[in-house]
Amino acid sequence: ACAIAFRIWVGGAGMWAGVLGIAISASAGVAFALYFRQARLRMLTFALLGLGASLPMASLFVLPWETALMILETVSVPMTLANIAGTVLVGEILERRRIQYYRENVLSQEASTDALTQLANRRVFDMRGPDLLMNSARKGEPCTVMVVDIDHFKQINDTYGHDTGDKVLRHLSQIVRSNVRKSDLVARYGGEEIALVLPGHDSRGGGGLAERLRRAVENAPFPLDNRNTIPLSVSIGLYANEGWPESFWAAFKRADTALYRAKSSGRNRVEVALA
Ligand code: GH3
Ligand code: MG
Ligand code: MG
Repeated sequence: ACAIAFRIWVGGAGMWAGVLGIAISASAGVAFALYFRQARLRMLTFALLGLGASLPMASLFVLPWETALMILETVSVPMTLANIAGTVLVGEILERRRIQYYRENVLSQEASTDALTQLANRRVFDMRGPDLLMNSARKGEPCTVMVVDIDHFKQINDTYGHDTGDKVLRHLSQIVRSNVRKSDLVARYGGEEIALVLPGHDSRGGGGLAERLRRAVENAPFPLDNRNTIPLSVSIGLYANEGWPESFWAAFKRADTALYRAKSSGRNRVEVALA
């Protein structure tokens, strides 16, 4: 539309031929994009697009026939060849770059996600956790570090099989994920341990959230079939950093120690580490 407006503004004898040429160009491009939307683009396809890029020459016939034929005679062959060669060359380069970009995305996604639960993996937690805590501290905001561990998970594996254990893990990850904000860090930290970093939560807020999580797990037993379910529970330890942090790993250690306390005092409970 801009090109057409500009061509009209320039005016002159070739104005309508120019406008038509631009319109044909645009239509050929849109048609190409729609038709090959899903396809992996190959050299032949680009050659076709190069041919399409030569279609606007037809707009010369808006001019008197003799003039049009005269111009076409001299320019049509070299222009068509140049269009095809140029389109194939640029198209191949862009297509290669596009595939590379897509692969990089898939790889970096795979490198940062836990394959079973689709939560962040430990590597991401180790990298992002300290940053999140430090950012909160800089803003003078609290930040909670939380460790969630499934109770008697070995028994679930032993009773129902490893496959079912995997499904239970996925089920639990889903529950945890859906009870926190998108911006919170949730990672599968160990086999059946989920670690979280919750910026903005002090020990009261973090404790409340942990209790909500604990209850959500208790109230969502894993459905085995139409009639039977596996009762589930988790123990949770947490520590809220409310001032300048000692270090992320010190905070994590406190949360982990609190988790051990939750385990040793009966499981299915929340323990908050004191500063
Ligand atoms: P506790 O209440 O003390 O936490 O008991 P627990 O049985 O949950 O803890 P323990 O550390 O003794 O056992 C953890 C189990 O988690 C052992 C291991 O087989 C299981 N596990 C770890 N990773 C996976 C996994 O990816 N899939 C399955 N199905 N099980 C796993
Ligand atoms: Mg466990
Ligand atoms: Mg464990």
